[in-house]
Amino acid sequence: MTSRVIPVDPFDLVIFGGTGDLARRKILPGLFRRFCAGQMPPSARIVGAARTELDHAGYREMASEAIKEFGGTTAANSDKLNAFLDTVYYVAIDALGDDGWEELQELCKEKNRVEAYYFSVTPALFGDLAERLHYWGMAGPDSRIVVEKPFGRNLATAKNLNATLAAHFDEHQIYRIDHYLGKETVQNLMAVRFGNMLFEPLWNAQYVDHIQITVAETVGVGGRGEYYDKAGAMRDMVQNHLMQLLCLIAMEPPARFDPDAVRDEKLKVIRALDPVLPHHLMRGQYEADHSDEKAHPSYREAVEDPRSKTESFIALKTHISNWRWAGTPFYLRTGKRMSARSSEITVVFKETPHSIFGEDAGRHRNVLSIRLQPNEGITLGVTIKEPGPGGMRLIDVPLDMTFAEALGADSEHVDAYERLIMDVIRGNQTLFMRGDEVEAAWAWTDPIIHGWEERGEVPKPYESGTDGTTDSHELMRRDGRKWREVSP
Ligand code: NAD
Repeated sequence: MTSRVIPVDPFDLVIFGGTGDLARRKILPGLFRRFCAGQMPPSARIVGAARTELDHAGYREMASEAIKEFGGTTAANSDKLNAFLDTVYYVAIDALGDDGWEELQELCKEKNRVEAYYFSVTPALFGDLAERLHYWGMAGPDSRIVVEKPFGRNLATAKNLNATLAAHFDEHQIYRIDHYLGKETVQNLMAVRFGNMLFEPLWNAQYVDHIQITVAETVGVGGRGEYYDKAGAMRDMVQNHLMQLLCLIAMEPPARFDPDAVRDEKLKVIRALDPVLPHHLMRGQYEADHSDEKAHPSYREAVEDPRSKTESFIALKTHISNWRWAGTPFYLRTGKRMSARSSEITVVFKETPHSIFGEDAGRHRNVLSIRLQPNEGITLGVTIKEPGPGGMRLIDVPLDMTFAEALGADSEHVDAYERLIMDVIRGNQTLFMRGDEVEAAWAWTDPIIHGWEERGEVPKPYESGTDGTTDSHELMRRDGRKWREVSP
């Protein structure tokens, strides 16, 4: 099966923060892959804009190194690298001053092309960039800005940021990135739900016992300690990534697959979320790990605050108060230094109401697991008869819908960032968060955080390489359920 690539319109993409980690690891390699796939028109221009003093040649060299280091090049495409680099430019610029803006304006003066500005800088600069783009006449009615996470740290700051951006850009020009939405499986989740007759009739409280969402990382906070300790797992992961997955799993079928129809339905889910009760919420901090020759510091050592109360792990139970989901618990958990790197949504259906095969055959339930990373794919657990003699013994086997296998070697892997950037150029906001969605997510998150702050709760320690605090397992056990194993 060969993939069909539709080239996008000519564009200028300015990457503010073009020398930063995200630009080097994701944005530039992703753009190179789209160039090789024939999706970028030859007249497209990529302009790195950052504080570092570099000329075009210097930036091209940096871009080339980054693309090679972070997997952009393969034996099949490395001969295209120079042609790609010809589309790359650089302007040394200061988001807080006037340096470089005239040069950028001159470079991007050609009209009749999509103008997109990627804010890949610290969020503290988002407002300044929007204001300067406006001041220098680059915030035209068709221009687009791409805004990275985090989008605020609570409802008040998110509202402020929305208002600042709205002063210069309409909502249809603002692309708030949540790269989880750019993952192949996330879109496949919508295809599976709304492109098949099989699932949707069962997709409700009557047939679904519960839903789990796990995003587990093996890494610790690493060099991001200073940022992370002010955020924690709730702000860094739950409010955005896990919330977006929850919305896609739980939303009503939109009338059309268009940006506002989809985002309207997601918003309704967030607004229907119940507050989280204190005993349905567990927070943890990972302990030091001396199990191999590399010493892994504890969370508190990593953030250099022996009294830190920030969580590196969180597990919670919530409900969605609407007709479809009343009574179905949603369990969410995410953490660092867990046993494996794995992001998975699991829909656990109810047991069959009656076993015609007798008690010995046991009770069985279907489990649909949607795996985002690694090994993206969807698996449906079904019950069949164990082959061979010996009567009706039932076993659960997976119906595997791993995409690479199903679609063959030609199916192209497109990274989340490259898909999302192409969507920006195409002007498709379906996979981006709308301002009201982000605010609603904070409106749910804020009272939970205030609650634990008021109660003075301190996260419980958990052993590195395990799946979080013991009380997070207790949360499930109390309900007669258990977390799905975190597997690589
Ligand atoms: P970084 O610190 O590596 O890079 C920051 C960039 O901003 C540099 O290019 C720097 O020159 C530029 N910059 C700083 N001050 C400036 C100024 N006054 N004027 C112009 N340019 C200035 O940061 P990063 O890790 O690339 O992150 C960028 C954004 O992406 C942040 O909002 C971050 O939260 C978000 N993000 C990053 C990652 C990641 O994996 N790195 C993942 C998700 C989100």
